[in-house]
Amino acid sequence: MNVSRPALLGGAKALPAELPAYRSIGAEEEAAALRVLRHGTLSAFFGSVGDNFLGGREVRAFEAAWSERFRIRHSVSVNSGTSGLIAAVGACGVGPGDEVVVPPFTMSASAACIRAWGATPVFADVRRDTFTLEPQSVERVLGPRTRALIAVNLMGQPADVDELLALARPRGIRVIEDNAQSPGALYKGRFAGTLADIGVFSLNCHKTIQTGEGGVCCTDDADLALRLQLIRNHGEAVVRELGYANRPEQILGFNFRLGEVEAAIGRAQLEKLERLTAPRVRIAQALDERLAGLPGLRTPVLAADRTHVYYTYSLTLDPETAGLSRRTVVRALLAEGVPCFEGYCEPLYLQPLYAADWPGKDRRYGAGLCPVSEDLFARTLFFHVLLYAEVERFVPAIGDAFAKIWGAREALAALEDDGARALRRR
Ligand SMILES: *Cc1c(COP(=O)(O)O)cnc(C)c1O
Repeated sequence: MNVSRPALLGGAKALPAELPAYRSIGAEEEAAALRVLRHGTLSAFFGSVGDNFLGGREVRAFEAAWSERFRIRHSVSVNSGTSGLIAAVGACGVGPGDEVVVPPFTMSASAACIRAWGATPVFADVRRDTFTLEPQSVERVLGPRTRALIAVNLMGQPADVDELLALARPRGIRVIEDNAQSPGALYKGRFAGTLADIGVFSLNCHKTIQTGEGGVCCTDDADLALRLQLIRNHGEAVVRELGYANRPEQILGFNFRLGEVEAAIGRAQLEKLERLTAPRVRIAQALDERLAGLPGLRTPVLAADRTHVYYTYSLTLDPETAGLSRRTVVRALLAEGVPCFEGYCEPLYLQPLYAADWPGKDRRYGAGLCPVSEDLFARTLFFHVLLYAEVERFVPAIGDAFAKIWGAREALAALEDDGARALRRR
C-alpha cells in the first residue's frame, strides 16, 4: 500500500471512515422539550391585542435570554431565518418601487425576502477574500430608490459593517444583517447581528445552534421591534387598536410565530453556543496551519477587527498556480473520503425568479453583473467539510489528503479532460 499516492490514482484513502454527523442536541434539549410537553401548551400566541400577542412564557424567556446573550434591547423570535428576513425587510418599510442592495453570493432567502415585498433586489459584488459585500461595489449601485441594504455575514465572518453603515446612514438607507451563519462572531468587540438596524439569525437544523426550524430578529430600535412583532403575528388585525394605523406604510402581517417547544430548545442551544463554536475555531486553525503553503490554495481570510465562527471552512483555489482545476481537486478529495463540493451558491440573479418581470423592474440581471461572485462560484471557491467537534480527530487525515494531492499534481493534471483543463485558465 502506497500511502503517499492519491486515492484517485489508486492509493489508499486518507480518511478511513465516513465523517460522523453533527450532533448538537442532548439531554438539555430533551429536558426542555419535555418541560413544555408536560405543561401542555405548545403555543400561546393570539393574533389580537392582549397579553398573548407576544407569545407564551417559553417564547418570552427565550427572547429575553437571546437579548441578554447578544447584548441587544429587543429580540423577536420567528419560525425561520427566512421569515425573519421577510419581517426585517417589511419592518424597514420596503415596498414596490423600492430597491434593496444585497450580495448575490449567498443563500437564496437573503434576496427572495426583497421580492416578497414587491421591491427590486440590486446586486452588489462581494470581496474575493472574505466573500462578504464589497463596499465600493455597493456604492456604485446606490440610487434615489435604495431603501435598504442587506449585509450577509457569510460563512461565519461579519461583513464590513462600518463601511456599509457609512454609505447608508447619510442617505437614510436601512441596514439589515443576515447573520444566519455567524452567531457569536464579533466585529470590533460587538456581536454580529447587533451592528445595524436589524440582525436576523437562523435556527435551522444546519446552523451552529438550532431548533429544527426557527430564527430571531434583533434590534435596538423599539419601533422596529414593534413592527417586527406586528409582521410576525397578523399585525394588520391589531394596528387600529394599537393606534398604529396612520403610518405611511400599512402593516401586513403573517404567521411567523415560533412554537413553545422550539423556544425552550432554543434557550438550551443558546447556552451551548460557546461550546459548539470553540471546536470549529480550533479545527479551522489546525487546518489553516496544515494547509499553509500549498501552491494555489488559500485558506479562509479573516478581515481586521473581527472574529470568525466557521459555520463553514471554505478554500479558494487559484487553478493556474495550483496547476489543477477545482474539479480535479474536489474529485481527488472525494476519493480520499473528504466531503467537499465545488462553488457555493450560483449568483442569485441567475435564478429564474430574477428573469421574470415585475412592476417597476428596470434592472438587468444577466451574467457578468458581479464578476467576483461568478468566478468564486464557477472556478475558484470550494467547500470543505462543515466543522464541528465530531470532525476534530480527522483533521490530520484531512491534511494528509491535501498533501497527497498536492504532491501528485502533475499526475492528477494528466487525468484532466478538456473541460477541466479549460477551467484552469482564466
Ligand atoms: C440558512 C440561511 C438563511 C435562511 O434561514 P432559514 O432558517 O433556513 O430560513 C438565510 N440566509 C443565510 C445566509 C443562511 O445561511
